[in-house]
Order: sequence, then structure tokens, then C-alpha cells
Amino acid sequence: MGKGKKSLILWRRKLVKELLKNQEMINAYVIQRKCGKSGCKCQKEKGYMHNPAWCFHYKEKGEIKAEYIPSKYANKIKQQVEQYNNYKRIGKEICEINKKLLKMDIKKVST
Ligand SMILES: [Zn+2]
Repeated sequence: MGKGKKSLILWRRKLVKELLKNQEMINAYVIQRKCGKSGCKCQKEKGYMHNPAWCFHYKEKGEIKAEYIPSKYANKIKQQVEQYNNYKRIGKEICEINKKLLKMDIKKVST
């Protein structure tokens, strides 16, 4: 096994460990939201928000759903969404490594 290949495999192993740290991930968007009552202070005053102002959006069977988040959970859920972003980023990196490994193997066979 070539040196380049070995270091790629070691790097991939490290990434897979990183991947496991994201087991609480949620694929949703967390946004701040106004209540929708006309005449409410949050509609009139820019930047004014009251509870529950946080909301998370996610897809279920192709439909976009929204759910209010009590503010004490907002940070927790934001972290969970962040975990999903990490998961996607690490997954892409693993794919890049696997493509490189595949190219190395193909080269070996064809020469
Ligand atoms: Zn309001």
C-alpha cells in the first residue's frame, strides 16, 4: 500500500470518529419568528420578539413543517442543527477521500 493511500485511510478513520459526535443531529432550520397577531408589539417594533419566538422548520414527506420552540430549548436545538451541518461537511470530505482512493486503485489496474 502506497504512502499516500495509507494517510488517506488514516484521515478517513479520523473523520468517521468525528462523524459519531453528531448523533444528536437534526435536519431543520431554526429561525426567529413573529407571532402573526396583527397589532402585536412584535409586528410594529423592529427587533422586538417575545416568547416563543424560536421556530424550527423541517421537511416531512415533502411538506415543510414549522414548530415553535420554547426559548429554553432554542440553544440546544441550534446545536443539534449545527451537528447536522458538521455531519454533511464531514460526509463530503469522506466522499472526496474515497474518490481519491478509487482513482488510485483504477490507476493501478490500468498501468
Ligand atoms: Zn407578537
